[in-house]
Amino acid sequence: MSGTGGYFSNESVERVRTSSDIVTVIGRYVTLKRSGRSIKGLCPFHREKTPSFFVSPERQMYHCFGCGAGGDIFSFLMNYLSFSFTEAVEELATEAGIKLERTGRDTTRTDVFREILAESQKYYRKQIPGKSGTSAREYLEGRKLSERIIDKIGIGWAPDEGGLTEYLRGKGYSESQLIESGVAVRSTRGSGIYDRFRGRILFPISDRRGRIISFGGRLIKESATGAPKYLNGPDSPIYRKGDYLYGYRDAARAARDLDMIILVEGYFDHARFVDAGFECVVATCGTALTSPQARQMGALSSVYICYDGDKSGQRASVRAAEVILEQGYLPGIIAIPRGQDPDDYILEMGRESILELIGKADDPIRYALELLGGWSSVRGSEKKVKVVKRLVEIASSATEPVIRETLIRVISEQTGYSMRTLELEISEEDSKIRKPAERKLKETELNRRDSRILGLILLSPEGLSNPLVDFIIEDDFQSKSGSRIFIEIKRQADSGMERFQLSHLEGNDSSICAGLLTVYPEQTEPEDVERLMKAVKKDRLKEERKQLKSQLDSADSNDDIQELRRRIREIKEIEKKYYK
Ligand SMILES: [Zn+2]
Repeated sequence: MSGTGGYFSNESVERVRTSSDIVTVIGRYVTLKRSGRSIKGLCPFHREKTPSFFVSPERQMYHCFGCGAGGDIFSFLMNYLSFSFTEAVEELATEAGIKLERTGRDTTRTDVFREILAESQKYYRKQIPGKSGTSAREYLEGRKLSERIIDKIGIGWAPDEGGLTEYLRGKGYSESQLIESGVAVRSTRGSGIYDRFRGRILFPISDRRGRIISFGGRLIKESATGAPKYLNGPDSPIYRKGDYLYGYRDAARAARDLDMIILVEGYFDHARFVDAGFECVVATCGTALTSPQARQMGALSSVYICYDGDKSGQRASVRAAEVILEQGYLPGIIAIPRGQDPDDYILEMGRESILELIGKADDPIRYALELLGGWSSVRGSEKKVKVVKRLVEIASSATEPVIRETLIRVISEQTGYSMRTLELEISEEDSKIRKPAERKLKETELNRRDSRILGLILLSPEGLSNPLVDFIIEDDFQSKSGSRIFIEIKRQADSGMERFQLSHLEGNDSSICAGLLTVYPEQTEPEDVERLMKAVKKDRLKEERKQLKSQLDSADSNDDIQELRRRIREIKEIEKKYYK
């Protein structure tokens, strides 16, 4: 996370920060209530029943006392939506209508990997109309994908015999760069590297700025060696699978306009929806749905899950629904009939009929009950208790109270059990919920002295030009986080910045800082600074005296001993005179 701020000028980042309001932005994702001077809500980063998530409009910070999460408006988007710092700045800038100034090129280490991915995409695209592309063209024709959609999505072809590695080496990239970027793998026999993707139709995966960061590949022939049908690029310095939704960038605008985002499992399902005129469709990239992906969708619009209609697709739909409920959103589930996948279904039945299915989308409870055989089939048997318990489990994954109650009501209507009984059942379910976040508090704590020093610097009206920044040294801190945060404060002050930028700190340190800023609501007074300086001087003397004493024990020359004793006496005098 550190060092990511270099891409935009500090002034434009500050402009974005001051023209965005943290309460409004967080308020879109978390229900916030004012209580006294503070604004609080249920923490979106851990499960809780009583609010310990605080937002401070004065400081433009948030902090959770339950799990220690915290930061500024940028860190919120980074942590909540898994955006990069750059993406968070861009998102808020667009909203505020601010044009961002760039400070030169984005010259990070990861640039070379993006270049490699862009070159690979060019190469793979060229193979489709090329000589080696015959089987690929036939395959795509067989799957009834139009040329228009192949171009729109940027589908490419990785030939059986490979060739990308040679092509990229010719452009001057090193073996280790090709491996690290995920397009090549090291040979298990002997030396050398070869193409990761061979004999596969390739779907480029882009980040939220439209830059290609990985590929997903579909094998077109049955593999004799048991190679998987679908192969996804590995996590790399520019790509983390669970953070990205395939197609997000193109889907976002349409999803906002229509208040509908459709989640599918596969690249071909995605292509079919787009071909049928639905821009608002995204896919997971070969993994089960993750919480950041769920939040990214929920933050845009209403979510519709549209997985395969077979048993495993149906079960995956319910699991995905639970992940979305956990993030505070209520998804609809689209049931594709006859065990078909969305691709086949749309191809056979057309656009109108999928619209009809979307209109009939079920809530997760009705959908799951149907999947469990329907109430009428179990109501007379012992199985009914198990079914109700499973439905309650699904409802209890909803963290948003209104959604939860809605779902319990549905269970009650469907099964005839009273709301009261179901609520009792759900509170039992809640007590089973693990609370892993609670214990994290320890690591995110500073001792009182250290937090006082940092608090005084960060809260002072003069910002980084506060005299404490020059007075304090790294060694004055008793905790590692304390001195790390201070080093960053010093670095920013030395580079001429006026206000401290939290986003340059690593996760834990950033939370600690945000905690300080949210918790101490009052302004600091000059006397506080003086008092603190005095205390620090006293500690420094005490520390020096301790060290001199230990030197005294090991000193052998008489002169040294005399000198050490003299200094120790001196310190004692100063301490007596000034610090009693
Ligand atoms: Zn929390």
